[in-house]
Amino acid sequence: MPLPLTSSHFPGLRVARAALFWLGFVLVMTAGPAFANGAAPVASAVRVEETGQGARLLFALSSPAQAAAYVMAGPDRVIIDIPELNFQLPPHTGQAEAPVRGKKSSKIISSFRFGLFAPGKSRIVVDLGRPALVTKVASVSKADGAVELQIELREADPAAFTLAARAAANEAVARDLMGDSPVKPTPRPTDSRRPMVVIDPGHGGIDAGAQGKKNTIEKDVVFDFSRELKAHLEATGRYRVTMTRTSDIFVPLARRVKIAREAGADLFISIHADTISDTSGVSGATVYTVSDKASDKEAAKLAEKENLADAAAGLDGVDDSSDVSDILFDLTRRETRTYSHAFARTLVNYWHEAGRLNKNPHRSAGFLVLKAPDVPSVLLELGYLSNEKDSASLATSEWRAKAASAMVRAVDSFFQPRLGSGVEAGRPAPPAN
Ligand SMILES: [Zn+2]
Repeated sequence: MPLPLTSSHFPGLRVARAALFWLGFVLVMTAGPAFANGAAPVASAVRVEETGQGARLLFALSSPAQAAAYVMAGPDRVIIDIPELNFQLPPHTGQAEAPVRGKKSSKIISSFRFGLFAPGKSRIVVDLGRPALVTKVASVSKADGAVELQIELREADPAAFTLAARAAANEAVARDLMGDSPVKPTPRPTDSRRPMVVIDPGHGGIDAGAQGKKNTIEKDVVFDFSRELKAHLEATGRYRVTMTRTSDIFVPLARRVKIAREAGADLFISIHADTISDTSGVSGATVYTVSDKASDKEAAKLAEKENLADAAAGLDGVDDSSDVSDILFDLTRRETRTYSHAFARTLVNYWHEAGRLNKNPHRSAGFLVLKAPDVPSVLLELGYLSNEKDSASLATSEWRAKAASAMVRAVDSFFQPRLGSGVEAGRPAPPAN
């Protein structure tokens, strides 16, 4: 039964396209064999120069590359799209220095990040401290053979910035959403008796997620764990498993949901590992389910943060018009949520074998990635990267193996009614409350 899902609207797209020609959008072609030896150019160093009314961001490249830049508002950013670059830069490069209390950054470039955005495409996102427009983006070959990607910004008045951002953002969203899906959904299964579990490693590519102690980065921690979990689930022979990303690549939240639905997911597990600022004492795993009203303030804050993943990568928020008033939709969604809650409780029970649980281990909030109306979904926070103990254990393969096998037992328990009875289709029986 196909269900009505959200659709994105891009009013003013044509107007925006026209406006792009004179605002904010600079495209510079640079001749040169960017992939001379089949490998992406290496970005080996970067520096920032602030010059009063302007700022420059300069990347040292191993060979030239063609880049395009444009601005986006709310938060104010500059997006630079470029063919795949191999960023060989220290992990915390570009992160903002801790802001001084009550003092707003007066710099034009307050922070920046970079990474793979789609297959063959890298992206650099610059967070602006003051509104600015791009005056130059080019990779310049110097006399000594060095190549520099030069991004030059000039302070602009807020009205001009807003206008440029509106035009460019529409264009960028359209381009991103019309692009090829970075993860090909698996074709409809022939073996429908084996439940399909979709694992969603949070963040990826340009969106690094949380940055924890000792250089731990959320996107890497959750990817390693997701792979381990996939291997454990497949080893049982009882499940088919798909991942929403199979490399360090950005995947928009809506596309993660789409991948799950297209794969015919029976269970969707989004894996994260976040930080809580100023509360390094908070630790342990937490399982989240979706709800219209958050279970508590922290859960609401976390959902808000996770829902910003698209913005971090330079995508504007996709209209979430999921308030579809359709009785079948409502019934399906309610049924799905019952299953999601059941799995969350099961997972909390089995997690004891693997390690620490948060003192409030099952919470709920409005996570966009959990909004498929017909796929039972949970978001698992493996622990807090801001906690010394969590951060250390999450990085070890022993911990990953132990946690993954506990999760397999939770998944087994969830699907037991279905696997046990050998019933072809359908979900496990709802739990007795
Ligand atoms: Zn996360």
